[in-house]
Order: sequence, then structure tokens, then C-alpha cells
Amino acid sequence: MAEIVLDKISKRYPDGTTAVEEVSLEIADGEFVILVGPSGCGKSTTLNMIAGLEDISAGDLLIGGERVNDKAPRDRDIAMVFQSYALYPNMTVRDNMGFPLKLAKMDRAVIRKKVEEAAKVLELTPYLDRKPANLSGGQRQRVAMGRAIVRSPKAFLMDEPLSNLDAKLRVQMRTQVSRLQKQLGTTTVYVTHDQTEAMTLGDRVVVMRAGRVQQVGHPQELYDHP
Ligand code: ADP
Ligand code: ADP
Repeated sequence: MAEIVLDKISKRYPDGTTAVEEVSLEIADGEFVILVGPSGCGKSTTLNMIAGLEDISAGDLLIGGERVNDKAPRDRDIAMVFQSYALYPNMTVRDNMGFPLKLAKMDRAVIRKKVEEAAKVLELTPYLDRKPANLSGGQRQRVAMGRAIVRSPKAFLMDEPLSNLDAKLRVQMRTQVSRLQKQLGTTTVYVTHDQTEAMTLGDRVVVMRAGRVQQVGHPQELYDHP
């Protein structure tokens, strides 16, 4: 079970900025939720609190029914995908994707198998022995996603993962992300400031404004009643 519950979560940064104020949200197991809103409304801060990259100032965060406010990021069993690919330039695609498993001291043969499975899903098999410099932007972003999925985490957290891609590739990747999420059925929270992305990608859209949740609904409802 990888239900994620935010119960009146707030974030106050040390300089006094209140970035997130009493945000409550129940994300079902397997659900694909989009956090959308203008720059500075608190999307990244919310995602970072779920990831454990930022402390929670008030409220409770539950993952799979367990309160995780004080758990370190590595103990939350979730994988993060950022807009910058953050791949290791000197490692092959295979080694980049397998790296989290190597850190977890997993057996080499098991790593190999898991990486090859993920590569298949992401259509990266032909590129396993290449280095990131010899890949297109979309391929690199898929490697970054591959590195997240090899761990079979409880949840994916994605922060504007497509915003560095050109417009055409972004549209193609949207379809891929959506397909991948359905195929894996992993609970996903996806941050974007792009309205079109928000309307086309997820099962549910959460509109944030000035640190609060302004609206929650299915993409079509929000589109019909903006
Ligand atoms: P978004 O992801 O929607 O662009 P952020 O979560 O990055 O929004 O930021 C929300 C608010 O918190 C903004 O006003 C931003 O300037 C502020 N903020 C973000 N990080 C910090 C920080 N480390 N210290 C102080 N204020 C911050
Ligand atoms: P985003 O792409 O999410 O909008 P930003 O460019 O706003 O990110 O922020 C990049 C980094 O700067 C983040 O680590 C964020 O926490 C930090 N940051 C953002 N706003 C502030 C702020 N007002 N004071 C201090 N740090 C900030």
C-alpha cells in the first residue's frame, strides 16, 4: 500500500517565508496526481516535504499508513525524478540505471536483470552501453526515469521532469510518462506549471496558489469549470 496522506502540512522556511500552509490531500494507492500552479505557489516545497528533502513545519505526512515526518529520504522508499537529468556522465546507461541498486548492495546479476527489465519498458535496450552524452534529451530523461523505476519504489515524485525538453519531445514524453505510470501502477505526484501538461497527464489535478490548495478535481472538471 502506497497511499500518501498530507494532513494539514505547512512549511515555514527559516527566513520566515510561509511556502505551504495547511495543505491536506489524500492520494490513493496507484493514483497519478498533478500539482499545478504559478511559480512560487509551493509545489516544489510540497514535493520536497513528501520526499523528506525539506522538514515539515506542521502537520502529518503518512506514506502507506505510516507517519514519516521524521524519516530520512532513503527510508521513505520513494524515487524522485527532476528536470535536470543528473546522470553520471562517465557511466553508461546501464550503470546509471543500476546505480541505486548498487548502493543498496544488491547482487550484480539481480541488478543486471532489473536494469534490463526497466530498459525494455522504457525502450532503452539499444542504448544500454552508451554514455549520456550520446543520447537525445528524451532518451536521457528516460534513463533518469529508469533509475527511479529500477528500485520499484512505493511512489514516484516528479518535479517538472519534462521542462528542459523542446516542445515536440515534451509532447511525446508526456504520452510515455502516462503510459509508464499506468503500466507500473505506482503512486505518482507530478509537479508542473504547465496547464496543458496538468490537463493531459494525471488522474487528478491539484491547483495550488500562494501555498494553499485552491482546487482539486479531475482534469476534465477543471477544464470545464476553470
Ligand atoms: P514552486 O515550486 O511552486 O515554484 P516553491 O515551493 O519553490 O514554489 O516556493 C514556494 C515559496 O517558498 C516561494 O515564495 C519561494 O520563494 C519560497 N522558498 C522556496 N525555497 C525557499 C527557501 N529555501 N528559503 C526561503 N524561501 C523559500
Ligand atoms: P523552482 O524551479 O522550483 O521554481 P527555484 O528556482 O525557485 O526552484 O529555487 C531553486 C532553489 O532555490 C531551491 O533549492 C529553493 O529551495 C531555493 N529558493 C527558492 N526561493 C528561495 C528564497 N526566497 N530564499 C532562499 N532560497 C530559495
